[in-house]
Amino acid sequence: MTTEYDLPCADCDGPLARETIPPEELDVDATGPVPVATCKRCGSRHYPDEALEVIGQEAS
Ligand SMILES: [Zn+2]
Repeated sequence: MTTEYDLPCADCDGPLARETIPPEELDVDATGPVPVATCKRCGSRHYPDEALEVIGQEAS
């Protein structure tokens, strides 16, 4: 199955790597580290569905 991390960077077609970023660094309200796809070439960050799930989660 193709994941979002297998897709090329939307900005430069470079390869993406999965990283987890503290929510403070992304300035988002998340309950834990946010998984993002970071471009190894240009450093651009892309948010896969699982990142949006983490960001969208309400702390309860
Ligand atoms: Zn890129």
